[in-house]
This record gives sequence, C-alpha cells and structure tokens, in this order.
Amino acid sequence: MTEQDSHFEIAIIGSGPAGFTAAIYATRGGASTALFGGMAPGGQLLQTMEIENYPGFVDPVVGADLMSNMLRQVTRLGAKVFQDSITGLDLSARPFRLKAGSGKDYTADAVILATGAQARWLGTPSEEKYKGKGVSGCATCDGFFYRGKEVCVIGGGDTAAEDTLFLTKFAAKVYLVHRRDQLRASFRLQEKLKANPKVEIIYDHIPEEFTGEAKLSAVNLKNVKTGAIRRLDVTGAFIAIGHTPATGLVKDKLKLDEGGYVVTDEKTATSVPGVYAAGDVMDTRYKQAVVAAGTGCKAALEALAFIEAGDAHS
Ligand code: NAP
Repeated sequence: MTEQDSHFEIAIIGSGPAGFTAAIYATRGGASTALFGGMAPGGQLLQTMEIENYPGFVDPVVGADLMSNMLRQVTRLGAKVFQDSITGLDLSARPFRLKAGSGKDYTADAVILATGAQARWLGTPSEEKYKGKGVSGCATCDGFFYRGKEVCVIGGGDTAAEDTLFLTKFAAKVYLVHRRDQLRASFRLQEKLKANPKVEIIYDHIPEEFTGEAKLSAVNLKNVKTGAIRRLDVTGAFIAIGHTPATGLVKDKLKLDEGGYVVTDEKTATSVPGVYAAGDVMDTRYKQAVVAAGTGCKAALEALAFIEAGDAHS
C-alpha cells in the first residue's frame, strides 16, 4: 500500500446517514475521503423495514435499500469506502492515525466520527425472541403498524413519554410501564400523558417475559414491590430505556457528556480541533436519520474549512 492509499484528507468513521452524508459533502468539496463502514455498511437503518419519514420517497423505502443507495452515491462521487472497522484512533498528533480491524493503518487530516448510538435493550431472552415480531426499539419507525391495537412502552424518560404519545395516534390503547413510582420524563410530557385517555401508566413494574406464538401477544409484568405478575395483552412492546452512543473509540480522547455522547459545538466541532462528530453519537435529542444527515453535512463542511485554512498542518 502506498502512502497515497493510506492517507486521506478526511476520514469518516461510521456508515449511517451521518457518515454517508459527510462523505457526499467531503468528496464534492474536493477532499480525498475515506469512509470506514464496518463489515455491513448502513448503520441502524438496516434494521428498519420501512422508512416513510425520509424526504424524497413518495412510498416507504426499505432501510437497507436507502442505505445501499447512499453507499452507491458516495462511491460514484469518489469516496473510498472500506468494509473495515476502526479499532484504534490516535488524536494526539496530526495527521491523526487510525488503526483498522484488518490490521491496516491510515492517517487523516480531519476525522468525522459518525459511529451512531444504539437503542438500549433489556437484554432478556424473551425480548430477543420477539424482536421484530412485536418487540421494537423504535416507535417512530414501527408505530404505524399498530393501528387499532393495544401496545405498551417500557421506560420512564422523555423518550418513553414521547413514544407513548406518538403511539396514541395509531394504537387503541398504550400502556406506559415504568420500573419506579415516578416518571423521569419532563413535567410537560407527564401532563400530556395524564391528559390522554388512551394512556395508562403502570408504575413499579418491569417486564418479566414477552410471550406469544409466532408474534408477540402478551407481556407478563412483575410488580417490583410485591412480586405479583400482571399479564398485559398487547401485540406491540416498545423498549424506550435510553440509548447508548458508540463512543468506545474516543473515550478519554474527546469530551463526552454524562450520557457518553460526544460533546460538540453547533458546528459539530469536538474538543479536539480537526475532529468532528455527527449523527446519533452526538445527538442526545432527535435521533432521526434526517437530522443525522444534516449534522453529517455540517461536519464535512467544517472539516473542509479546517483543511482549507491550513489548520491541519499547524
Ligand atoms: P433516559 O432519560 O435515560 O430514560 C431512560 C428511562 O428508562 C428511565 O426512566 C429509566 O428508569 C428507564 N430504564 C433504564 N434502564 C431500564 C431497565 N433496564 N428496565 C426498565 N427501565 C429502565 O433516556 P431517554 O428517555 O432516551 O432520554 C435520553 C435523553 O434525551 C434525555 O436527556 C432526555 O431528556 C432527552 N430527550 C428529550 C426529549 C425532549 O425533550 N422532547 C425527548 C427524548 C429524549 P429510571 O427513571 O428508574 O432511571
């Protein structure tokens, strides 16, 4: 491998909408661009059956198709896409050094971190069994399929509260199941929950088991104070117990907030000059593909400006 093959002006880590959009803008801005997308480029959207909130698609688009189009788009524009993961990152000197899972080393003048975040799961065997068969980690993605049905949301934070309210647009009834006797969600959201006749909040309960045949038909809840079991006949269960940003690579290297998200300014700049973060890895609030794409665009434009200003070599 020549030096030319291993050095890029902009290296992007992650292949969700943030990473791919960053690659579109980086290549069109004239930078030599590498995108490290892991073994299966595409990110969280690969698991989404139908997306109908990404602009430009009249009919719902399958997540894998959308990501495959983005991959083809960035390849056509000249980005070098590696089916390789970055396992080590040295941000202490410039050019930045990246170590790939394949064992190869790369350098870059600017780095865009777009490694995403994953919805947290309870981690129980029955949850795993019914994932995609009634158990979902994304109300925005899958809520539409529960028109007229009874569903439950697990969690007590803002996401769980918002998911519950969102689901009342489709479902006949939404149970919000929280492990404590008080929600963590904001006062305003709690007021909305209480005012919605379709919502029933069940405090002090955790899911003991998800059950059914081929698809979910009930959740057995355990009262954490008494141990009593209550059966909820629901065909959908939405897990909303927080997100885990994928920041293992930059722990101790970039400033992170208490939730582990990369701290950026409004221009996506991180605590290290020349390193930018985009998408769910820095988004504590929206976690939507279109927002990830927007921050990916910002990050690439800022990385281009950083290189253009000569700051990469100062
Ligand atoms: P979060 O605030 O961390 O809340 C997670 C919830 O899940 C908590 O209620 C927690 O219970 C519960 N939980 C965690 N692990 C659990 C488990 N193993 N079993 C059962 N329940 C469990 O996460 P989030 O709601 O995703 O919000 C993340 C951040 O985004 C927050 O800062 C939030 O304010 C922000 N956000 C804001 C908005 C908005 O402003 N509109 C919307 C969404 C998110 P405990 O309460 O007992 O810890």
